[in-house]
Amino acid sequence: MAYVTTYPYTNEVLKEYKSMSDEDVQKALDKAGKLYQEWKNKPVASRKYYLENVADLMLNNCDSLAKTIVKDMGKLYTEAVAEVKLSASIAKYYAENGEKFLAPKPLLTSAGNSWIENNPVGVVMCVEPWNFPYYQLMRVFATNFMAGNPVMVKHASNCPGCALAFEKIIKESGAPEAAYQNLFVSHEQIADIIADKRVQGVALTGSEKAGTHIAAEAGKNLKKSTMELGGNDVMVVLDDVDIKKAAKLAAYARLWNAGQVCVSSKRYIVEQSIADKFMTALKAEFAKYQPGDPMDENTTLAPLSSKGAQTKLDQQVQNAVKNGAKIEYGGGIPDMHGDFYNPTILSNISKDNPAYYEEFFGPVAQFYVAKDDADAVRIANDSNYGLGGSIVSKNHERASKMASKIDTGMVFINGITQVAYPELPFGGIKRSGYGRELGPDGIKSFVNQKLISITK
Ligand code: NAP
Repeated sequence: MAYVTTYPYTNEVLKEYKSMSDEDVQKALDKAGKLYQEWKNKPVASRKYYLENVADLMLNNCDSLAKTIVKDMGKLYTEAVAEVKLSASIAKYYAENGEKFLAPKPLLTSAGNSWIENNPVGVVMCVEPWNFPYYQLMRVFATNFMAGNPVMVKHASNCPGCALAFEKIIKESGAPEAAYQNLFVSHEQIADIIADKRVQGVALTGSEKAGTHIAAEAGKNLKKSTMELGGNDVMVVLDDVDIKKAAKLAAYARLWNAGQVCVSSKRYIVEQSIADKFMTALKAEFAKYQPGDPMDENTTLAPLSSKGAQTKLDQQVQNAVKNGAKIEYGGGIPDMHGDFYNPTILSNISKDNPAYYEEFFGPVAQFYVAKDDADAVRIANDSNYGLGGSIVSKNHERASKMASKIDTGMVFINGITQVAYPELPFGGIKRSGYGRELGPDGIKSFVNQKLISITK
């Protein structure tokens, strides 16, 4: 597996990195295994100071950390800065609350004095994607660090700069070296790491395809796993909305981070009586997004993360059209350098069109018209995925009723599916995976919820 930074705005190869040998991997496992044995005897509170340092260091180095994101995967600088700040806020949240979340919990029982302790379980192997190169790492690091599980992380091969920058921050915080180890390893080496008995947890954020692979490896070795996979989230637009405002939100929900967000609103479901007006307003909003230099604060549409991502998305759109979809807006690759894709709206997507069930990982939206609320729920739930979703309506009661009927892990009313709050749990159902990161329970993904009971 080649770890390379290729700047998606210029397609220039900026740096290549050396992969790790099997011997290097063994050394990393040894260190992590030893640290776990040490941490088992230390209280959660002993790690708080370092996680606070991590948060401060991220904020103090925000500019250079953000620029590393831009170079690795082409994110807009302004969005990269927001991501660094968000990552710092996750570290702060678990530094402040980790001890409380992991505190022993007494049980009401007639068996005798009984309680649940949250003990660490061992080394956790994490495989992470490039679309939020620090945020994804922090979701697995901050929680496991407080819980007492050393983490070993294989980051995506196209964001090695971020992988090393994150590891450096952890080192500078004064935390033990093995608390966080970046691994430049191949897919095959991951299977061996998962099989190692020091590894007791496996966390993947990535595509459905990677999920089936990693979950199988974890299952084969009876290791607990969490899978944060793809999505085909809806934004349901009810007939009572302020159309202009809703269209603005809808465009942002699809186009931020160049549409490369697991919880982007990938399918708009709009109620019949406002569908035409909404489409007109949506096109006007899409037209406002301008591709350009990610470092320029006036640029509103980033390039995709790689040439491969651009080619794949274009093929998906062409295939959708071949199978009957209509391009309402955009389509195709703009005539400029960089891995951009034109913001695109597709309609007329029938159930037998492969696009109907596919995740488009870029600025391409699907537009569906619903007869009424029940029909909107039916379309929303006709998906193999079940990650997040949004409903836009002035009527909170009506929207809340609908939210309860949507088969996903998260539903947001009058907002995009949020990633900005560490206290809100994140995760999905169906082929979007299982388990939750973030929130008060995210820290318990890989702990031994051990019962201790003093028999009467
Ligand atoms: P990806 O191809 O699955 O890659 C994600 C990570 O998995 C990378 O580190 C990748 O390494 C590794 N990987 C892929 N196949 C593997 C295999 N067979 N064995 C071991 N490791 C493997 O996904 P992506 O295209 O980078 O990311 C986009 C996907 O992630 C989308 O589907 C998106 O919806 C999803 N996502 C989900 C969440 C969530 O929280 N639910 C958040 C963000 C993204 P290499 O780079 O070396 O191949």
